[in-house]
Amino acid sequence: MNTREQLLALNEELRRLKAEGRRTVSVSEEALTTLRASLADEPEEEPAVAGDPAMGRSGFTPDEPRGVARVEVSGLKPDPQPAPAPKPAAPVAAATFTLPDGDKATRWNALREIVLHDKVCASHVHPGKQIVFGVGNLDASIMFVGEAPGGDEEVQGEPFVGRAGQLLNRMIKAMGLERGQVYIGNILNWRPEMGARNSDGTQTGNRPPTAEEMAYCLPFIRAQIAIIQPKVLVALGKTAVDGLLGFERFKSMGAARGSWHEYAGTPLRATYHPSYLLRQEGLVSAAAKKIKRDAWEDLLAVMERADVPISEKQKNYFL
Ligand code: URA
Repeated sequence: MNTREQLLALNEELRRLKAEGRRTVSVSEEALTTLRASLADEPEEEPAVAGDPAMGRSGFTPDEPRGVARVEVSGLKPDPQPAPAPKPAAPVAAATFTLPDGDKATRWNALREIVLHDKVCASHVHPGKQIVFGVGNLDASIMFVGEAPGGDEEVQGEPFVGRAGQLLNRMIKAMGLERGQVYIGNILNWRPEMGARNSDGTQTGNRPPTAEEMAYCLPFIRAQIAIIQPKVLVALGKTAVDGLLGFERFKSMGAARGSWHEYAGTPLRATYHPSYLLRQEGLVSAAAKKIKRDAWEDLLAVMERADVPISEKQKNYFL
């Protein structure tokens, strides 16, 4: 069994135990270490590939560092009265809309209003939670594109404000920039529904968007790119790669990163999703170090292409 199959089997077993009513399962430190090591040994396989139903069901998805976090099964509480999941309107085809003529701010504000009032987006959002639209500098040279909002994002209505967002902020800072100097958007504008709910009604876990969900929202991120016109696009993770470059293009993040691509005439660099990088934190294996170094090299390439000055210290910096 490869690592992915092992994780799926583990997750299935945990779900079976949960269905039996088990509230906690003890996992030895040794078992966790082995699991972490096996994850670190597969640098190219950034999991949770959108459009991959098997991984979608597994729940090993961004925002919740995948795999290991799901092993902390003490959080698996049976939900005696699960809150009813909303009935999302099936995202048929792609969203359609017309933007007014005008300057960047006029078009961006109009697009934001369209997305925030979009009926299909709204049908996927629970009461009290928000549709998430992009943020940042409309004149940004660098635009980051992530996957989909997680729990923190749907509460605050802003992309990348949770743990992954804090790492993204540190990455941006390491590039010598402020978050307010770049633009940050997502492929999807709502948090993908998992079905599983805590007893207080909040969602447990995250999953990557389906191909249909992505297809619906793609016009929104494409329109943001057209308005911002960044010098460089950074696709954070495989979902962003698939969304912007096409599902068939790359089998894995390992295949997508490390070279330049183009989206609608704009240079695009793919790099690991911050949630995947979070999983490497604290790991000292050579594989984990390489992942961090590779991600930093992606960002160095982005800086060079976007004419952001690079110091000697930055050249040698490891995330
Ligand atoms: N992960 C994403 O891909 N996007 C967010 O906004 C937050 C976490």
